[in-house]
Amino acid sequence: MNISTNTALQEQIQDLKAHKKIIGLVPTMGALHEGHLSLVNFAYQYCDVVVVSIFVNPTQFNNSGDLEKYPRNFEKDYQLLISNNPKTIVYTPSINHVYGEDVKAEDFDFGSIVSYMEGQYRQGHFNGVGTVLKRLFAIVKPHKAFFGEKDFQQLQLVKKLVEITQQPVEVIGSPTLRMSNGLAESSRNYRLTPAEVEEASLIYKALSQAKTMFNDFSINEIKSSIQDLFEDHQLLELEYFEVAPTSTLIPAQTKKTHLNYRAFIAAYIRDVRLIDNLALN
Ligand code: AMP
Repeated sequence: MNISTNTALQEQIQDLKAHKKIIGLVPTMGALHEGHLSLVNFAYQYCDVVVVSIFVNPTQFNNSGDLEKYPRNFEKDYQLLISNNPKTIVYTPSINHVYGEDVKAEDFDFGSIVSYMEGQYRQGHFNGVGTVLKRLFAIVKPHKAFFGEKDFQQLQLVKKLVEITQQPVEVIGSPTLRMSNGLAESSRNYRLTPAEVEEASLIYKALSQAKTMFNDFSINEIKSSIQDLFEDHQLLELEYFEVAPTSTLIPAQTKKTHLNYRAFIAAYIRDVRLIDNLALN
């Protein structure tokens, strides 16, 4: 079912909770693809009913052009979700339902996890993400909330957010769904031509190469080999490639044996910005 007002949603959730149902929330910005559906299906392994919110959050775009260009296709999204699982509640609030009159981001102290990579290249983005999720958690009051590892920095941020705000939500990460060529499914892929989709598979090739090299090479050697790889491919412009421990997300120069590391990439193909990451050890 589709619900767009907070009161109707809250009545529905209260009723489900009275019947001891476990409620999951999957926040999205719409333009849904197979990656979103895999996240929803992952959530159904833990929950009786999954609420999928579709809300293009204005405060997380640091570039108003990007906000305008963000693809929107509610009818298609709704059909996808309901044919995937008819129990799903599709929550489509207006800006007013989420923000009231005050459409602005709060200032959070998320510490080091937002200082680099996405936090560095998209100023203000994570405060916008934190603000909208704090509000969605307060409106929906789910038992659990699900986020893709595709946006790994965001996943770590949400864990920190519920700690800071003391919201009683369990945050669970779900693996990244990829196309057969390795490219992570993303709403932004809709803006690529088939030839560009092929070219963009370089992002996953680079991450895989970093994983293969991880045990035998230094982080600097890995970084320069990935930079060389991108220099050979003119259609893609590398914004950053970093290796960082998952606990701090501070880009590392050297490896410590007891830490878990991931590689992180952001790259442009024309004006389409793509991000991805992969566990290295
Ligand atoms: P978005 O609509 O882009 O804000 O994404 C909504 C949720 O879907 C986020 O938690 C993303 O991390 C997740 N997501 C996006 N792409 C994928 C993917 N390829 N595989 C799994 N989850 C994804």
